[in-house]
Amino acid sequence: MEENLIYCDKCNKNMGDGYELHDGLYYYCSDECLFSEIDKEEYLEIDKEGFAFWTTFEE
Ligand SMILES: [Zn+2]
Repeated sequence: MEENLIYCDKCNKNMGDGYELHDGLYYYCSDECLFSEIDKEEYLEIDKEGFAFWTTFEE
């Protein structure tokens, strides 16, 4: 069986939900992790293009 676990790209925490960027290229579990990797302007830019959203991974 394949477990579909998602880990934060910053702190490696197993995420039940969090930010997904660029269609799953990057995952961040919290604002803290997200904004330690990219700045707010960059996030807003990605968000505007529709490549950033909060998502839940539990089935
Ligand atoms: Zn994290």
